[in-house]
Amino acid sequence: MSIRINQEACVGCLKCIKVCPGSLIKEKDKKAYIKYPKDCWGCVSCVKECKFDAIDFYLGADIGGNASTMNVTYEGDILHWKIKKSDGTVKTIDVFSKDSNKY
Ligand code: SF4
Ligand code: SF4
Repeated sequence: MSIRINQEACVGCLKCIKVCPGSLIKEKDKKAYIKYPKDCWGCVSCVKECKFDAIDFYLGADIGGNASTMNVTYEGDILHWKIKKSDGTVKTIDVFSKDSNKY
């Protein structure tokens, strides 16, 4: 499991750095980056914290993701989990924020 930080979308708020329990995300030139992506264990805290659609979470073959990516955007109390498949199709799963830790 791992994440990818889109340098163009990152605005340098650095909130993802504060929430990573493994201190895996670093800052350089006011942008976030992950130096050792293989060390990421996929807690998705940074993905949920980024409000700028800049962090994608890889859904690898180990969990049946087949190179899909996933990220989240917020609309009030609703989280939109967007899954982008390798064939370009997108599926969105909406979750009420207070229920988000149930899954
Ligand atoms: S939370 Fe998102 S926008 Fe903010 S530094 Fe991290 S990747 Fe960049
Ligand atoms: S998914 Fe979790 S462990 Fe991986 S970089 Fe983000 S906050 Fe750190």
